[in-house]
Amino acid sequence: MDFRLLPSTFGADGSASDKQHLACIVVNDEIAIDAGSLAMAADDKLRSRIRNIVLTHAHLDHIAGLPLFVDDLYASLISPIKVYAIQEVIDVLERDVFNWSVFPRFSELSIGSGPAVEYRAIKPGEEFRICELTFRSFPADHKVPSTGYLISDGQSTVAITGDTATLNGLHDLFTASKDLKALLVECAFPDELAEIARSSHHMTPATLARQLEALKPGCPIYVCNIKPSYRDRVVAQLEALAIDHLEIMAVGKTYSW
Ligand SMILES: [Zn+2]
Repeated sequence: MDFRLLPSTFGADGSASDKQHLACIVVNDEIAIDAGSLAMAADDKLRSRIRNIVLTHAHLDHIAGLPLFVDDLYASLISPIKVYAIQEVIDVLERDVFNWSVFPRFSELSIGSGPAVEYRAIKPGEEFRICELTFRSFPADHKVPSTGYLISDGQSTVAITGDTATLNGLHDLFTASKDLKALLVECAFPDELAEIARSSHHMTPATLARQLEALKPGCPIYVCNIKPSYRDRVVAQLEALAIDHLEIMAVGKTYSW
């Protein structure tokens, strides 16, 4: 499986920056996990292929690109865009985003063969298949209802936490996964902002280190969802901790697992 974190910010020369304002990871160029920068960073190939979007939660940095992505494609769609999420996330999208005031309700707009957007409500722990891949959701520990996912092609499994304050609940899943190739985990704030991290249900390098010590994931760890204003400090603190097999997930790079 190929995983790529799409860019969401730009440097002074206009090229993509490694700072991450928005969350969107594309799998095999055909499935998006979160849609933060999907409309802004997807090239024509991704625009033509991605019709399945899996959401971890409804915070803006994870959904900002969803309305614009659907809007871009609406007139040319021949099949619906399927959005997979827990019911609480779908409810927020319909009530607060696709509510005709902020943006059109594409789940009620027809493309001839059906609505432009179809929701698939998933339950924590539920398994579902998209494009030959199996997704299994697990509850994350965030300020709002959130899920992470185990994604498997039958040979490799990759775990994505989304935003979370802990890795609680992953132990049994990881023990059962013999082919775990990577854990993609958040680390939003530096240690000096531990109180903000705690109250907003995010991690700092120190809390991530403690969580990993307890979980012992047994696979390489890739850190993403670092708040852009604190990226340099978070990276320096993670480097100082020298956690085995941990690296920062590079923006725009394709990882094959
Ligand atoms: Zn969040």
